[in-house]
Amino acid sequence: MISQSNTEPVIQIPAFDVMKIREDFPILKQLIHNKPLVYLDNAATTQKPQMVIDKEKSYYEEINSNIHRGVHLLSQKSTMEYETAREKVMRFINAKYLSEIIFTKGTTDGINLIASSFGEKYVHEGDEIIISHLEHHSNIVPWQLLCQRKNALLKVIPINDDGEIIFEEFEKLITEKTKIISVVHASNSLGTINPIKEIINKAHSYNIPVLIDGAQSVQHYKIDVKELDCDFFVFSGHKLYAPTGAGVLYGKEKLLEELPPYQGGGDMISSVTFEKTTYNDLPYKFEAGTPNISGGICLGTAIDYVNSIGFDSIVAYENELSLYTENKLNGIEKLKRIGTAKNKSSVFSFVLEGIHPHDIGTILDFEGIAIRTGHHCTQPIMERFGIPATARASLAFYNTKEEVDFLTSSIKKVFEVFA
Ligand code: PLP
Repeated sequence: MISQSNTEPVIQIPAFDVMKIREDFPILKQLIHNKPLVYLDNAATTQKPQMVIDKEKSYYEEINSNIHRGVHLLSQKSTMEYETAREKVMRFINAKYLSEIIFTKGTTDGINLIASSFGEKYVHEGDEIIISHLEHHSNIVPWQLLCQRKNALLKVIPINDDGEIIFEEFEKLITEKTKIISVVHASNSLGTINPIKEIINKAHSYNIPVLIDGAQSVQHYKIDVKELDCDFFVFSGHKLYAPTGAGVLYGKEKLLEELPPYQGGGDMISSVTFEKTTYNDLPYKFEAGTPNISGGICLGTAIDYVNSIGFDSIVAYENELSLYTENKLNGIEKLKRIGTAKNKSSVFSFVLEGIHPHDIGTILDFEGIAIRTGHHCTQPIMERFGIPATARASLAFYNTKEEVDFLTSSIKKVFEVFA
């Protein structure tokens, strides 16, 4: 909403009306096992607003064509929309240059890109890479593969019983052999928010670059890569209300310039002969082959949607709902929360005494409640807490206090079933 004054237009933050917002998400209107859907698996993927669904449809109905290489009108239109989406991403995370926004398949793809390209150039035998105990498998395995290839060492920042990294231990892990530090911003299985600014500052005092896995943060917190001063930041569009298969790697221009290409193919070259290939400018140097064009465009639309609600309103509402959920879950006897960091996101992992998480998930499903159960692609965390799995409820801004109430009363029902 924009109101005019004598000088600058003043942008007013629209009030947060969750029931109105829910109208934008057609999937939320359906019944599951004859009960209204209560979707609490947002850390796995978020639902898509009508605006994004319409955009995907209109892309294929109206402008589908390959980008960057066509002189015909459809190609020009899809190229324009794709590059406009890149600009939207740049503004959304406050990057300095368009060349710093690389479209990827998602978070996993972005981390693999850096592990491969940065690792190829800068990591050698005996070098060290630091990650934390909180990482998703996609921020562990690519570095392990690199360490195997290069005979390098993977070091892990330990966590305490609340699921917080132990900063003093992190400091002790840094040596002159540390080549890169790669840490998650918000844990997908415990909800812990890492002190990434402190980690980045510490790393930079040793001239070590930092990659931030923003898969679980970009949809909940305002990201400003310039302010954070991170070297790389990766995220997935599908966790930000966009379709699957499109994501972003942000990298500081200077660093990206220095890195070798990740994959070879069309679009990433400027000239090819059998003797020699020269590479395209950023960001295309890292975008070999036909990308997920509609996915990238729809990521831009998802950003428009989130902006239309207002990020400040989203953060305020989600904080309130998280606090409400935390209090409700804490009030359930024999429910043990796993992940009790002081600084936490809207992800809630728990176990119920004597009941396997998969049984919890199955019973809740019959109530229409979608939660996730398992190791959440974080097996080392499960091992740290001595459990095989957790049940996890994760919130988005279209969830309501009534849904949280229904979750808690249904959890009590699970106990009754097993009594
Ligand atoms: N990192 C974190 C913290 C995640 O939660 C996830 C997915 O759940 C990923 C990485 C991988 O994301 P994607 O599967 O979209 O590549």
